[in-house]
Order: sequence, then C-alpha cells, then structure tokens
Amino acid sequence: MDRERYAVVGAGIVGLATAREIFRRRPEATVTVVDKEGSVACHQTSHNSGVVHSGIYYQPGSLKARLCVEGRGLLKEFCASHGLAYEECGKVVVARSEAEVPALRQIEARGAANGVRALRWLGPEELAEIEPHAAGVAALHSPSTAIVDFTGVAVALASELDVRLGFEVTSIRSGPSEVVLCGPAGEVAADWVVVCAGLQSDRVARMAGDGAGPAIVPFRGEYWRLVPERSHLVRGLIYPVPDPEYPFLGVHFTPRIGGAVDLGPNAVLALSREGYRRSDLVLTDVAATLAWPGFRAMARRHWKAGLREMHGSLSKKAFVSEAQRLVPELTPNDVVSAPAGVRAQAVDSDGTLVDDFRIGRAGPRGAVMTVRNAPSPGATSSLAIAAYLADEVAAARDAQ
Ligand SMILES: Cc1cc2nc3c(=O)[nH]c(=O)nc-3n(C[C@H](O)[C@H](O)[C@H](O)COP(=O)(O)OP(=O)(O)OC[C@H]3O[C@@H](n4cnc5c(N)ncnc54)[C@H](O)[C@@H]3O)c2cc1C
Repeated sequence: MDRERYAVVGAGIVGLATAREIFRRRPEATVTVVDKEGSVACHQTSHNSGVVHSGIYYQPGSLKARLCVEGRGLLKEFCASHGLAYEECGKVVVARSEAEVPALRQIEARGAANGVRALRWLGPEELAEIEPHAAGVAALHSPSTAIVDFTGVAVALASELDVRLGFEVTSIRSGPSEVVLCGPAGEVAADWVVVCAGLQSDRVARMAGDGAGPAIVPFRGEYWRLVPERSHLVRGLIYPVPDPEYPFLGVHFTPRIGGAVDLGPNAVLALSREGYRRSDLVLTDVAATLAWPGFRAMARRHWKAGLREMHGSLSKKAFVSEAQRLVPELTPNDVVSAPAGVRAQAVDSDGTLVDDFRIGRAGPRGAVMTVRNAPSPGATSSLAIAAYLADEVAAARDAQ
C-alpha cells in the first residue's frame, strides 16, 4: 500500500505542532510542512508576548478553555524534554478601582470552572508583597502562568519535521483522491491537508473552497521595553482587568526569557497583515478589511474601545499613562520602543469578533482542515490544538 501523505500549510507554532502530532501517530506516513517564508515562525509565533496562559479568561466549555489548560501542561513537558527555558514567574490581574472588581471576580470564577489551580484573591497588601510597585484595590494571582520563547519552541518542533521553506501556496487543487498545494516553488500532493496560515488563513481557506468566512482583520500590537535600570519595577506578569466586550487582554507588563521587561500590546487596526513597522501599508490588505461586511459592523460596535486603543498608540506618553494605572512609578523616560506584532483576529460577517478557536473543513472528502481563528492563547494551546486537529483528521479518514 502507498504511504499516506499529509501536508500542513504554515510553519508557525500551530502548523508545526500539528505536523509533529500527525507524524507521532502515523510514523509510516509522509508529513510535509510548507511555508512561504525563508525560516519558521516568522509571523505571530515570533511576535507575541511569550506568555504561557493558565486558562483563567476563557468561557468554560469553549475550545479555548480546554485547549489552553491542556496545552499549558503539554508545553511545560515539551520544554522540559527539549531543554528549553520555561519560567513560572506567575501573574497578577489587577483591579484598579472598585468598579473593576466584579469583572475580576468573574475571571476568578472562570478560572476555577476551567480547572486552573492555586488561584488566589489578593488585597492591596498581599498584592504589594508579590508586586511591590503595582497598585490596585484587589488582584487575582495565577502562580502557574509562565513565560517561554515561542520561537525556540517552533524551531525545536521543526527540527523533527520535513519543512519546505520558501514555498508559498497560491492555489489548491482538490480532487476526489488527493489535494495538491500549488505555488511558484512547485506542487505538494497529499491525501490530507491542514491549513494553519495565521494572518493569511482566510485567503488560504478560500483557495481550498472554505470561503464562507470569517475574514481576518489584522490588529497591530505595539510594545515598549523598560530600560534595564527600571526593570526592578516588575517581578512577574502584571495585567489589567480586560474589557469583557473586547477579545484583547489590555496593555500588560511582560518579563521576557532573557531578562527584558516589555509593556504592551495595544490593539489597533493594522494597515498590513505582515508589516511590523508603523509605516507599513499594503493596499490589498486594507482593501480586504474594508470590503469585508463584518468590518463596518465591528467598527460600529467597538468604536469606543478602538478610539481608546488608538489614543494609546499615538504617543509614548499616552501608552505609558495607560500602563501607569498599573505601576504608578512608571515614567515615559523608563521605556524605549520594542518590536510590534500583528494579530490574526477573525471577524464574522455580522461584525462579531470571533472569540473561540475555530476550525473549518473543505474539499471533497473534507480532506482539508482549516484553522480559521487561533489568536491568543493559540501559542500556549498549540500542542493541544495539534492533538485536536489530528483527532479530526483521523475521524475524517476513518469515516471514508
Ligand atoms: C501581539 C501578539 C501577542 C500575543 N501574545 C500571546 C501570548 O502571550 N501567549 C499566547 O499563547 N499567544 C499569544 N499570541 C497568539 C499567538 O502568537 C498565536 O496564537 C500563534 O502564534 C498562532 O500560530 P500560527 O501557527 O497559527 O500562526 P503564525 O505564527 O502566524 O504562522 C502562520 C504561518 O503560515 C505561513 N503562511 C501564511 N500564508 C501562507 C501561504 N499562502 N503559503 C505558505 N505559508 C503561508 C506564514 O508564513 C506563517 O509562518 C499573541 C499574538 C500576537 C500577535
């Protein structure tokens, strides 16, 4: 019998983890990962906060809640077995006023429902013991929240796989017996394909025939970095209570593997899906955002939060004044700019910002699985998303 062939589009952390999981389960098969860039993890995987989330924020019963909790455990084991740094520095989510306490209590309840252990409610004095420079009326402490270098994890995953770099998929031919990924670098034929194309996931899904939506609307996230002599202001991760209407977590303080401390990211509409400088503008990306029916509905619904975030991105002073609400001693002289990221946020045609991970299926036999939304905590959850996708592929294969 011919060897089964699997292909994965995208060598970010989700695509690589998925390819590894399929290969672990079917060692006799060929598993090929293709990516348009010259190295792995060029986009979201290497432009994020590096936080291993514990699972406190997510709607109980959602894929995010389950896969984040499972993924955190798998990632910790993966780092231990591959000699990669994994620092459990812990996190406090800080209520800055009494008005934020009910939302923080809701996060505490969600964390408990999601099985996150050792959460602790803190009063101002207890908060000061953990984070002496943070200010708040109450806080939730999550000791298992950690930091990691997701690029390093992706490189370790890729080292066990057949990865074809510089292979951009520009069309997909789906026939009754095979799926062919086509691009200027050639063709890869497979029996089963998983699309993990991050910021391009809607476009690649459309090539595969999964065109119903949602569309990706890119949100830029800017970071600033504490100058070394002020990094003592922060010991672990310090987060605000997020706006429950908005799927982003708010500007937070993030220690990095290696010792730097960043603050960010904000969330402003990006003018380029894969451009990391403020001046980057890709007209086709802007046109795609504006043409999506959900974009206007989203803008109408979230204009207030959008304006607030826009304001925070206008100047260093505005950004710092938001962060000062968590750490009042911070001044604009304490920070220098740091590399930005761009999030792939899926938006439905009615303007809903898709909150949960979303997976689609396309092609004859349902042979193409498409990851349509894998924003934060997608990197934390990657090894569990991979197991979920491998189960889905196996179910489709067994149903034949
Ligand atoms: C600012 C920011 C902060 C974040 N913070 C965190 C955090 O602290 N913790 C956390 O868990 N998550 C965080 N996330 C989310 C996390 O980074 C993502 O969920 C995760 O990286 C998604 O991985 P991916 O493999 O799906 O996408 P990506 O890493 O974007 O990879 C997609 C890959 O597909 C390739 N590709 C696209 N189109 C094609 C094509 N046509 N042909 C071939 N290849 C193609 C791209 O080149 C790319 O390599 C953050 C994200 C951002 C942007």
